[in-house]
Amino acid sequence: MRTLTTDVAIIGAGTAGLNARREVERAGRSWLLIESGPYGTTCARTGCMPSKLLIAAADAARGARRARLFGVHIAPEAIRIDREAVLDRVRRERDRFSDLNAQKVLALPVAQRLSGRARFVGKTELMVGDHTLVQAQAVVIASGSTPLIPRELEGIMPQVLTSDSLFELPSLPDSIAVFGTGAIGLELGQALHHLGVRVAFYNPLEVVGPFTDPVVAERFREVLDADLQLALGAKILETRFDAGCVVLHHRDPNGRQHERRFSKVLAAIGRKPNLSDLCLEHSGLELDDQGTPIFDSATMQCGSAPVFVAGDIDGERPVLHEAEHEGCIAGANAARYPNVSARQRRVALSIGFTHPQLAMLGLTHKQAAERDVVIGESSYDDQGRARVIGQNRGLVRLYVDRASHVLLGAELFGPGVEHTAHLLAWAAQQELAIADLLRMPFYHPTLEEGIRTALRDAGHKLDLMNGCAPEDRGDRVGD
Ligand SMILES: Cc1cc2nc3c(=O)[nH]c(=O)nc-3n(C[C@H](O)[C@H](O)[C@H](O)COP(=O)(O)OP(=O)(O)OC[C@H]3O[C@@H](n4cnc5c(N)ncnc54)[C@H](O)[C@@H]3O)c2cc1C
Repeated sequence: MRTLTTDVAIIGAGTAGLNARREVERAGRSWLLIESGPYGTTCARTGCMPSKLLIAAADAARGARRARLFGVHIAPEAIRIDREAVLDRVRRERDRFSDLNAQKVLALPVAQRLSGRARFVGKTELMVGDHTLVQAQAVVIASGSTPLIPRELEGIMPQVLTSDSLFELPSLPDSIAVFGTGAIGLELGQALHHLGVRVAFYNPLEVVGPFTDPVVAERFREVLDADLQLALGAKILETRFDAGCVVLHHRDPNGRQHERRFSKVLAAIGRKPNLSDLCLEHSGLELDDQGTPIFDSATMQCGSAPVFVAGDIDGERPVLHEAEHEGCIAGANAARYPNVSARQRRVALSIGFTHPQLAMLGLTHKQAAERDVVIGESSYDDQGRARVIGQNRGLVRLYVDRASHVLLGAELFGPGVEHTAHLLAWAAQQELAIADLLRMPFYHPTLEEGIRTALRDAGHKLDLMNGCAPEDRGDRVGD
């Protein structure tokens, strides 16, 4: 066994760990990067990129089927989905993205890259595999997260897929049961549905999507219910194999029992931080009841220790741009320890690439409800541009501080939400007030006009509109 010393040891060569490493190097300190799995990052290998590639294929199929809405007829038998070719392209493009990431890691000095699982054996001492003891001045934990498997599925594991294994299938399955109706389950399950796979979603709770706003959640559920087979409030009674199929037996909330057969099951009930192998009991860190180190999200420091967390491991904001940001904060502070400095965090933003797309930003409805807010609302059901493109299903709810009129947050779903949610998040981060936002240009006819309707609704509820120019109030005629 060998012993290595370094200024900063980084556990995990994913997005958070790589950003932390760069900051340590920038600060002129030495580093060691420890990775137990393949290089390439979760985002590129099994997360953001392959899921969006699958959705791109599904969009093509969906577009062909919907063309008749516009008087463009493609005979159903002319739409043929090549189930191997779909996954071939997903993997080809995915490999391009992940190879680019892996090449950047492989270009780092080999002596500073350690292969193996790291675990704490002292406050800043790590054992890597059984071959290397690392003595560091500071540690960044950036070990990511892993898909959770529902207990009911443990007996049929060979047929159970996760986002780690789905994209490795040689061909799309004939049918699949998706456990989980959060953003990842919906993105993957809906894409498979649009690609001709028979899909049913299961959730013991009667919940679809991540929303905390009951009005948005209910409308979103109605919209998805019209398109997908949703078994909500389902109590799984039995899972078994039969003649090469998975048989799921469940009871619905009305007490009726159902038995359905599927070729595969996708577990998408959430992800758990990779904490268990870290032996944190040797780190001396204070842990919460989930076993996560208690940390300050402005510095990413765990208590006053020279240990920092970043990315999915901390369970706070499990999205890519936050893994990058947290990696930068953790790396810079680990390099500077004990001169740790706080950084302004960005307004929260998460997007689901469902149909229709969904987003949450800034304060959630649940958080906003603890303050004095007014809610600006608009529906996409009759919104001009949304009707033009035949995607007129959606709802926006904005949470606005009653005293300052500043936009605090929003929950929304609808067409083009990946773009409109960015505009709202940027406005919330700049602490713009409703009147400031209504003075901005809105081109016609666009999906952004749907946002303006919600801003105007908030403006009316705040009694602001009399002071506005007529066109900002919504009095313009001839739209
Ligand atoms: C299907 C799916 C779709 C997603 N889509 C989006 C999206 O559209 N947009 C978005 O913003 N986010 C999305 N995400 C989330 C995003 O991928 C993650 O937030 C991000 O990749 C987390 O980066 P990370 O650095 O924390 O973890 P990772 O990239 O997972 O890095 C952690 C690394 O640590 C290593 N490791 C673990 N334990 C140890 C140990 N003990 N010793 C050494 N190494 C260890 C792991 O092998 C891994 O390589 C998606 C995730 C999934 C699963």
